[in-house]
Amino acid sequence: MSDLAPQVRRRRTFAIISHPDAGKTTLTEKLLLFSGAIQIAGSVKARKASRHATSDWMEIEKQRGISVASSVMQMEYRDCVINLLDTPGHQDFSEDTYRVLTAVDAALMVIDAANGVEPQTRRLLQVCRARNTPILTFVNKLDREVQEPLALMDEIERELGMTVVPFTWPVGMGKVFGGVLDLRKDQMRVFTPGEDRVAGTEEIVDGIANPSLATRFGAAYEQASGEIELVRDAAPAFDEAEFLAGRQTPMFFGSAVNNFGVQEVLDALVDLAPPPGDRAAIQRTVHPEEPKFSGVVFKIQANMDPAHRDRIAFLRVASGKFERGMNLKVVRSGKTLRPNTVVTFMSQKRELLDEAFAGDIIGIPNHGVLQLGDTLTEGEALQYTGLPFFAPEMFRMVEVADPLKTKQLKAGLQQLGEEGAIQVFRPVAGSVLMLGAVGQLQFEVVAHRLEHEYGCKARISPCRFQIARWVTADTGEGAAADERELNRFIDANSHRMAHDAVNAPTLLVEYAPELRAIESNWPKIRFHALREHA
Ligand code: GDP
Repeated sequence: MSDLAPQVRRRRTFAIISHPDAGKTTLTEKLLLFSGAIQIAGSVKARKASRHATSDWMEIEKQRGISVASSVMQMEYRDCVINLLDTPGHQDFSEDTYRVLTAVDAALMVIDAANGVEPQTRRLLQVCRARNTPILTFVNKLDREVQEPLALMDEIERELGMTVVPFTWPVGMGKVFGGVLDLRKDQMRVFTPGEDRVAGTEEIVDGIANPSLATRFGAAYEQASGEIELVRDAAPAFDEAEFLAGRQTPMFFGSAVNNFGVQEVLDALVDLAPPPGDRAAIQRTVHPEEPKFSGVVFKIQANMDPAHRDRIAFLRVASGKFERGMNLKVVRSGKTLRPNTVVTFMSQKRELLDEAFAGDIIGIPNHGVLQLGDTLTEGEALQYTGLPFFAPEMFRMVEVADPLKTKQLKAGLQQLGEEGAIQVFRPVAGSVLMLGAVGQLQFEVVAHRLEHEYGCKARISPCRFQIARWVTADTGEGAAADERELNRFIDANSHRMAHDAVNAPTLLVEYAPELRAIESNWPKIRFHALREHA
């Protein structure tokens, strides 16, 4: 066992996935509270409230400014170090969210018990499923009149294609919510409303069949007992391998706002969620306990601190140990970085970091040296795979209102492109830059940021393209032949070819039939809706 093993094994890195308003902010705050990372409830929420005071895209703008501290939260609970990664909530920012999900080892899905499975949850879950990320499920808001637990369980199973294994079961709901029966510990935890109660102060009744429960909770208890019988007969037993493969999800019921059910979720993260595992690079598979440091940039955030116009690259440590002042090689460019001001995100304030292990997230301030998808090592030529860029679905042309500001526009778009805020395409023929996005809001944010951060007013206008595909060649005759074929393709299609922020050649077309025709005419060209790394 290496020296690193105990450190790696006590790490848990996860994100919360949910539809807006299901209770992610509330639960995040309660997890921090129960782990002792914060003392006073309300601080996370206060920030969110201040965001709501503004118009929609201004809110995003603010969020970007404020969310540094909350983008990664590290807490210690029992003997574990838990890293909670925030996922941007707005659906137009889903691309960013997808990339955050590549940096976690587990996800906590929060379901509003009144609304069941909602669209945003479904989308995010698909990303987790594609990566076999283990999912824990928290059904929230049992203090309200909500759907029947059996119906919710059925909906989750049907809609999300996972087997649900209840770990707790609610007794009543809304006004008669009595608490939850813990099917594993064979006890009932009694619900008392209120935000003040913290760990270890709950009333616990031993034995879920304890006759005193029937007397005390009456019909609600009888119903819960009947449902549990049904579930016991129908649901399979918890199977760790199935959970780790993302096919089975343990389900917990509670009420985040009332601090109820939060501790079970924290315990489940420690007991069930996996520590950091192996990660795939193009060259080989990397084990987290290998002595040499390596990590991958999964998110870049710009100008987060209004006092410094900095950019922070968020890097997930994949192996080894990071120590302040060590030299790191940026594999893509071959450059060496010696970050002295690396930050970690403890208890929601930026803190200087001395060391980090696999699963931890570190923030490296830089000025354009790091790009999304970059791998950093102590020298080895490694490139991690799996950081997704999705082919945009909306396109616009972008020009400057004032031609003297062309330089600012180019610089601004270059940086925004590297950050992943938008995709920028330079046409092979023609000089007007194009923007690609997955959500309309991205264009508005980019226009706003170009004006306020780079001092240039942009004119954003409609564009005929609707589909983008990254192109590579595969002739089966070696790299030189591939390159010739790719160049032949680019020349023949120059009126609809462009290069993106990392210079990857991209085909832009108007209609799906056009794309199909091109595909059949060029059998040695591969068309990709997903690009995985620089
Ligand atoms: P987010 O958008 O997913 O981050 O959701 P929030 O955490 O901001 O919660 C949305 C709303 O639901 C807020 O008004 C919360 O106070 C409320 N809420 C969160 N948890 C509960 C709960 O357990 N019960 C009830 N009744 N309301 C809750």
